Amino acid sequence: MTAQDAIRQRAKELLESGEVATFIGWEAGRFHNQTTPLVITDAADADKLVFNEYCVNTLAKYARDVVARGKVGLVVRGCDSRAIVRMIIDQVIKREDVYLIGVACPGMKDRKTDELLKKCAECRHGNPVECDELIGEAGEWPIPEGRFAEVAEIEAMAQPERSRYFESVYAKCIRCYACRDVCPCCTCRECFVDQRRENWVGKQNNVAENRFYGLTRVMHIGDRCIECGECERVCPMDLPLMKLNRKVIQDLNNLFGEFESSLSIDDSVEPLIAYDLNDREEFM
Ligand code: SF4
Ligand code: SF4
Ligand code: SF4
Repeated sequence: MTAQDAIRQRAKELLESGEVATFIGWEAGRFHNQTTPLVITDAADADKLVFNEYCVNTLAKYARDVVARGKVGLVVRGCDSRAIVRMIIDQVIKREDVYLIGVACPGMKDRKTDELLKKCAECRHGNPVECDELIGEAGEWPIPEGRFAEVAEIEAMAQPERSRYFESVYAKCIRCYACRDVCPCCTCRECFVDQRRENWVGKQNNVAENRFYGLTRVMHIGDRCIECGECERVCPMDLPLMKLNRKVIQDLNNLFGEFESSLSIDDSVEPLIAYDLNDREEFM
């Protein structure tokens, strides 16, 4: 049985038995090399589910939107499962709110180039880190090198050049907030950019305010980023958002020791959340 057939069968069973109220996977898109997320509540729709190398969207964030209807079933690869772990640690959802069908990820393709997506080429965990059942077996997943290679390129620039670089990056941002909307760490009930209080952040689309938005977002996510690369993938202006995300992660690694966010619900290692009397505090 293919992974796609198994996903359809289990979605049907879970919905028919009432174990889940909603099931989230992917359906075929308009083109043969495209899929879109699919949210179903009727077991008869389970045959619409697909699983192929173009399932590019990470699904976890959709669970937040439908969890009020009851337990949510969803397909999880490495990135989806880490996003769910993140949302559980952040108390956005509870573990018992979701039923996770794990599947080993083959790595997904960019439909424009048919090459591996950038986020998948950089992915460190293709297998689910958390699931209730696993379809097939976990695959070998070699951890790619050069996690901070892009950061090194930026750090090698002289200061004026670096400023000009980021100015050119933020000049392109159109403040669509797609990066925020897709991010499993961006789950505040009211985002700071939506607050109406004056003088907090302006609504204008200019370099200074775009940069303020981008830098505030990356600092707010801090050590919680799961490096799923979804923010960068969905950016319609192709902003290199992972450079800044990884700069923060690299600095935290250097300050507090190597860590990766959201690999386990019970054994969270995020350094900004943990507190120890022996913490280094050179900045005091
Ligand atoms: S980021 Fe990793 S787990 Fe997610 S789709 Fe890409 S290769 Fe698969
Ligand atoms: S997705 Fe890209 S263009 Fe849209 S707000 Fe984020 S950085 Fe700006
Ligand atoms: S890579 Fe981007 S979308 Fe994914 S958790 Fe980090 S900031 Fe959020």
